[in-house]
Amino acid sequence: MHDHDHYHEAKKSILYGIILNSIFTVIELVGGILSNSLALLSDTIHDFSDSVALGISYYANQKAQSSPTKTMTFGYRRTTILAAFINSTILMALTFFLFYRAYLRILNPEPVNGKMVFVIAIFGIITNGIIAFKMLRGKDKDLNIKSVFWHITEDFLGWVGVLIAGAIIYFTGAYIIDPIISILIGLIVIYSAWGIVKESANIILEGVPEGLNVQEIETEIKNIQNVNDAHDIHVWSLGTNYNALSAHVVISNMTVDQSHEVLNRINTMLKEKFNIKHTTIEFECSRCDSDRVCY
Ligand SMILES: [Zn+2]
Ligand SMILES: [Zn+2]
Ligand SMILES: [Zn+2]
Repeated sequence: MHDHDHYHEAKKSILYGIILNSIFTVIELVGGILSNSLALLSDTIHDFSDSVALGISYYANQKAQSSPTKTMTFGYRRTTILAAFINSTILMALTFFLFYRAYLRILNPEPVNGKMVFVIAIFGIITNGIIAFKMLRGKDKDLNIKSVFWHITEDFLGWVGVLIAGAIIYFTGAYIIDPIISILIGLIVIYSAWGIVKESANIILEGVPEGLNVQEIETEIKNIQNVNDAHDIHVWSLGTNYNALSAHVVISNMTVDQSHEVLNRINTMLKEKFNIKHTTIEFECSRCDSDRVCY
C-alpha cells in the first residue's frame, strides 16, 4: 500500500513538471524570437528537451509496472532508452546549429531586447522554483525524481545567469553578452546530452553496464563450491538498473537435484554482489561437452 501511494506521488509530480515546463517552453520561444535573443533560444531547446525527458520518465514510471508480452519477451524497458538516445541526439544537433548562429552574432552583434530577456528570466526562475519545490518531498524516495530535482535546480541557477545577462544588456547595450551566454548554455546542454547518448548507446549495443567487471564476476562464480569453470559470460542491461547475464558453468558430476543448489548459490551471489536480476546459466561437465565450441 505504501509503495502504491509513493508511485502515484512520483507520477503526479512528474506530470506537473511536464505541464509547467511545456507551457514555459512556448513562452520562451516567443520571447526569444521577439527579443532577438540567442540565449533565450538556446534555453528553449534545452527546456523542450527537458519536457521530452520528463515525458520519458513519466512513461518509464508507468511501463515499469507492465509485464512482458508474447511478442516483447523482455518487456518495454528499452523503449525509454531508445527515446532518450533520440532526444539527446536531436538536442545536440540543434545546439551545434545554435553555436554556428552564435559565432555569426559574435562577429556581427545584433540588438537584443534586454528588458524582455530579463522579464522572461524572472518567469524562468519562478517556474523552475515551483517545480523544484514540488519535488523536494519526493526526491529522497525515488531515484528518478532525485535526478530530475537536481536538473531543475541547475536550470534555476542557469536562469539567474540569464537574468544578470538581460540586466547587463539593458543597462550597457553590450549585445555580445547574448551569444556568449547562448554558447555557455549550449556547452552545458552538450555535456549532459553526451552523457545520456553514451549511456543509452552502451545499453543498446549490449555493453557491460557501468560499474560491472566481467573478470570479477567470473572469479566470483568460480569461487562457488562445486564450480570448476565458468566461460562464455555475457553481461548486459535490459534498461536502467536491470542487469542480465548468461554463462556456461562447468560443475562436478552430480544429480540434477544437487545442481539446483549450485544454481541457487550462483544466482543469489549475482543478485547481491552485482545487482544482476535475470540470469540464464548453462551447466556443463568437463566430459559431456568435449566437442562443443565454447568461448
Ligand atoms: Zn533543464
Ligand atoms: Zn527469464
Ligand atoms: Zn561452454
